Formats: sequence, C-alpha cells, structure tokens
Amino acid sequence: MTHTKHPSAPPVRAYVGLGANLGDAEASLHQAIEQLACLPHIEFVRVSPLYSSAPVDASGPDYINAVAEILTSLDAHELLSVLQRIEHLHGRQRPYRNAPRTLDLDLLLYGDQDIDTPDLRVPHPRMHERAFVLRPLADLDSTLMLAQGGLHDLIEACADQALHRIN
Ligand code: ADP
Ligand code: MG
Repeated sequence: MTHTKHPSAPPVRAYVGLGANLGDAEASLHQAIEQLACLPHIEFVRVSPLYSSAPVDASGPDYINAVAEILTSLDAHELLSVLQRIEHLHGRQRPYRNAPRTLDLDLLLYGDQDIDTPDLRVPHPRMHERAFVLRPLADLDSTLMLAQGGLHDLIEACADQALHRIN
C-alpha cells in the first residue's frame, strides 16, 4: 500500500463505478465493496442499489452495476492502483477491449478534480453517456453536475439503454 503524500489534507469524496458480468457478478460486487471498505485511507460512505444492464459495445451476459461513494486521503492515482489491485484479486483479465469481466472498477469522480493523464482520466470519459453509471450515481446524489450537464438530463438522453434495478 502506498501512502498519501498529504496525510493531513481533508479526505476527498470519490465515486467508484462497479461492474461485473462473469461468474457470480452480484457476489463479486458485494465482495469488492467490502474489500474497498477495509483498506486504509478509504472510508466507505454508501453504495447505490444494484442494477442489471445489457452490455454496451460488448458481448456476453448482462452486467450487474452499482456505484460506491467513498472518502479517501489517497490521491487519485493511488486510488486507481488500489482499484486495479482489487480487480486483479477477482481474476480480472483483459483479453480484448470491452471483453466480459469478473470485475470492473472505474474511478468516476474524484472530488471536483479534472485529471487527464495517460493512465487516468477523471471524470471518467464515458460516464456521461452510460445509464448504468448515471442512474446509480443519481441515487447517491442527484444534484451532481458533470461537464456535459446534470444527471437528470443525461439520464434522459440515454433512456434507450435497458437498465433494471435489482434490489
Ligand atoms: P473500461 O473500464 O473502459 O472498459 P478497463 O477497465 O480495461 O476498461 O480500463 C482500461 C484502462 O483505463 C486502465 O488501464 C486505466 O489505466 C484506464 N483508465 C483511465 N481512466 C480511468 C478511470 N477514471 N477509471 C479507471 N480506469 C481508467
Ligand atoms: Mg475499467
């Protein structure tokens, strides 16, 4: 575990998108949330309801999706590597782009920071067009604004994407 360079800075509110469509996807999401919540420098706040969605630009079984809200003193890159480590624990492989996955953890928002580096872009560059991100995010905070607009309008714009709340 790498430690934050700014241990005294106030924690940052971050939103993590969770998705899985292989194996027991629902169990994978619950486990991933527990693993995240147990880590140092991460305080779990809450998780959205779970949704099922048909794959976008991809094949395979339906996805289970949710969004988790955390407070963290890790910087965004440290948080990304923690997320990737949890994906790895779940046997995540990347045989090809948009391949089915045992667990996908995306850093959606990190405070109000804009980050554009080769390995990390925040806000997540495709979140504004994905109902399976926007709906659970709106369950946590419907007042959040993205550069592309408010959650309500963005959700309406992707109303064609089938999404079912499952709990
Ligand atoms: P995707 O989630 O887009 O289907 P992957 O999970 O395979 O694809 O991620 C591919 C790469 O995306 C990762 O190696 C990571 O470095 C990069 N990446 C860029 N921005 C983000 C972000 N906000 N959250 C997660 N990964 C990101
Ligand atoms: Mg990902």
